[in-house]
Amino acid sequence: MAFNDRRGNSNNFRGNNSRGGSGGFRGNTGPREMTKVTCSDCGVETEVPFKPTEGRPVYCRDCLPNHRKF
Ligand SMILES: [Zn+2]
Repeated sequence: MAFNDRRGNSNNFRGNNSRGGSGGFRGNTGPREMTKVTCSDCGVETEVPFKPTEGRPVYCRDCLPNHRKF
């Protein structure tokens, strides 16, 4: 799609892009799969968007930078 078409096509594009399309709905807009973990540093309960490896420490957002450098 060229940007030049935007002006002339905007109406049409909107119509095509309206929600509730026929079966094209993506469930991707919902919340990600979060895993509740306890920060290994400060002990706060936090959630991470990935599955922490068992036996490995998990840090909250605040502590993570402190442990990033290995
Ligand atoms: Zn922490």
